[in-house]
Parts: sequence; C-alpha cells; structure tokens
Amino acid sequence: MGEMPIIDRDKCNGCGLCVGVCTCGALVLVDNTVQAIEVDECRWCTLCELVCPNGAITCPFEIVIENGQGSA
Ligand code: SF4
Ligand code: SF4
Repeated sequence: MGEMPIIDRDKCNGCGLCVGVCTCGALVLVDNTVQAIEVDECRWCTLCELVCPNGAITCPFEIVIENGQGSA
C-alpha cells in the first residue's frame, strides 16, 4: 500500500486544479473539497502539490534531498 498525498481540507477551495493534473485518478472532489483516494496508480509525481494555489496538498513521498551533513 503506497502513501497518498495529504489534503488539508481547511485550505482546499475546491478549484479542481489538482484533479485536472492528476494522471491516476487518485483525487476526487467531494462536497467541494478534494479527497485523495487510495489507488495503486499514484505515481508520486507531486504535480498535485505543485499546482495547488493554496498549498492544501502535501506529498509525504517527496524526494528527500540529502544535505551532505557529515561529509568532509
Ligand atoms: S502525486 Fe501525482 S499521481 Fe499522485 S495523486 Fe498527486 S497528481 Fe495524482
Ligand atoms: S488544487 Fe488545491 S485548492 Fe484546488 S481543489 Fe486541489 S487541493 Fe483544493
């Protein structure tokens, strides 16, 4: 089971932009608020997070950038 984007429902205004960019159908509008449904097809592209004008989506699987701490 993969991780899914986390939706902050208080920030979502139901504009639907994220639904439009999602390639996997993981995002659905319910009562003017987006919900992420669990699907295997989520490709962790983070487009939904990028496109949201309100910062309502957080992708917990965002690529971690190493800071090089500990290296000379
Ligand atoms: S990360 Fe990409 S595939 Fe997954 S829900 Fe967001 S837009 Fe859809
Ligand atoms: S892009 Fe953001 S504000 Fe618009 S429907 Fe998606 S989560 Fe809600």
